Amino acid sequence: MQLKYRAGKIKREHSVIENLWPVLEQIAECDLVTSIIPGPIRPLSTQNPEVTFQRFTDTGLRLLAKNGTAVQEVYIVAPEKQAALEWLAAEGIVDWKPKCKAAPARRQAPEPLKTVTLPSDMTCSVCGRVMRAGTRAAQLGRKRFVYAHRRCARK
Ligand SMILES: [Zn+2]
Repeated sequence: MQLKYRAGKIKREHSVIENLWPVLEQIAECDLVTSIIPGPIRPLSTQNPEVTFQRFTDTGLRLLAKNGTAVQEVYIVAPEKQAALEWLAAEGIVDWKPKCKAAPARRQAPEPLKTVTLPSDMTCSVCGRVMRAGTRAAQLGRKRFVYAHRRCARK
């Protein structure tokens, strides 16, 4: 009887995808859960598998491909690993964005951007318009502070 009650928590308007039913039954055991309503099954497009870069290997790089129903590792042999990865990314085949290297990124980092509440009316150092006292604005500069609209400061 108890089991039947639990199964009754799961609404059966839609069928469920493979292997999901046992998981739903597990969720149904929770007293906090009143009912479980599986939505309609939406077919996944298998035309464009999602391919992501995993890591470099001794011989090239390892990719991970997902098509919505399965996952597959793909090993690419390429002597020029970095260049090959950049090509794959540039072609839009692999989802990968270059990471900023720590040291140069720090040197090129913009001046610290702090958000402050303006004590009085200030002129935006970027667009030249007046910013009212009490509004939030970006504080720029290391020694002598200047202020700007937060949107202007990000440009
Ligand atoms: Zn501005």
